[in-house]
Amino acid sequence: MKGITVLGATGSIGVNTLDVVSRHPDKYYIKALTANTNVDTLLEQCLKHEPEFAVMVNEDAALKLEHELKKSASDVVVLSGIDGLLKVAELDDVDYVMAAIVGAAGLLPTLAAAEAGKRVLLANKEALVMSGKLFMDVIEKNNAELLPIDSEHNAIFQCMPADFGKNVESLGVKKVLLTASGGPFRTTPLEQLSSMTPEQACAHPNWDMGRKISVDSATMMNKGLEVIEACWLFHVQADFIQVIIHPQSVIHSLVEYSDGSVLAQLGNPDMRTPIAYGLAWPERIDAGVERLDLFDIAQLDFIVPDEQRFPCLRLAREAMQQGGTSSAILNAANEIAVNEFLQKNIRFTDIANVIETVLENVTQHEATSLDVILEDDKLARGYAMQTIKGMQI
Ligand code: NAD
Ligand code: MG
Repeated sequence: MKGITVLGATGSIGVNTLDVVSRHPDKYYIKALTANTNVDTLLEQCLKHEPEFAVMVNEDAALKLEHELKKSASDVVVLSGIDGLLKVAELDDVDYVMAAIVGAAGLLPTLAAAEAGKRVLLANKEALVMSGKLFMDVIEKNNAELLPIDSEHNAIFQCMPADFGKNVESLGVKKVLLTASGGPFRTTPLEQLSSMTPEQACAHPNWDMGRKISVDSATMMNKGLEVIEACWLFHVQADFIQVIIHPQSVIHSLVEYSDGSVLAQLGNPDMRTPIAYGLAWPERIDAGVERLDLFDIAQLDFIVPDEQRFPCLRLAREAMQQGGTSSAILNAANEIAVNEFLQKNIRFTDIANVIETVLENVTQHEATSLDVILEDDKLARGYAMQTIKGMQI
């Protein structure tokens, strides 16, 4: 039996993780669940999965959850704050930690899980984008296992040689082909992009996800972050990775080899497949996912991404090439800009403009420590807010 902590249990990845886990009560049990403020969902999850710990980051929400659990005669221990998150990421009898908090807030608990030598199931790409080499070093130093849950990286992982290490080229790997759906605005006339609303941006054609990653998919910053994520996970340079728009989201990514072979992983767009693969690896378990019917799909399309439509793709590549804390600065500016767009304080097309301004004005440093990374993250957030305040909408 493997004990699991789910960081970000109430989100889209968290809910899908609990669905897969509940199909295999003989293999997995839930040790801890965490959320930010959503008491109702975490309460329901606690009553169903009976973890030992529940963490609400928000103190008031923690008190409310504790009160509700007592009413139901539950003995789940409620913790709060970042300390609570760190504690449940490190518990001795936790084997696997699902890192499914959205954004930079996931960095410290995900690093804590890596430091404690856990199997880290990484959905929270922002953590790796921010801390890159430092994160990979912590994984290596503590003999932690890092398994990508992001569907594309999970697909690449499945298509890589089984024992791939730091030099994939010596194993005949020539190229990584990262697929992207193109999001909801793939064919929207360019002049209409500036008037797209948060509701339209969050209406993803193939995937049902949290609001932040949905907006990232609409700008294609999600794919930019994924290029950076893939560089770290698979030890390759950004120019080794080609982004391909594939609107059906059936091929989740591909790996090209020197003999001309191209291996792909296919499946219905359902995050329970990569989650189940991460949980069971190197075995396979039922994920509750509908079988892929190729006759039903009939056609698969591949399109070159248009960087005029999706400037965030270019900005992410540039940040990765710059190195140091540039990716953390990019990520921080993006988090602020997406949040302000969701609050209707800036237009959709302003997201990329804010990020570009922040990248041009906040000086990057060598990412030698967590403190340096967090300091530049903070400066970038401040600069992004200042830039937004000066904007007219
Ligand atoms: P979501 O918004 O649905 O859920 C986010 C979770 O994080 C919630 O449980 C929330 O309580 C928690 N959270 C939010 N702010 C927090 C904070 N400040 N401190 C602690 N906890 C906080 O997001 P999601 O779509 O499930 O995405 C989670 C992560 O997985 C993101 O990094 C995303 O990029 C990645 N991801 C998601 C999908 C997907 O299909 N949803 C696919 C690939 C990767
Ligand atoms: Mg993805």
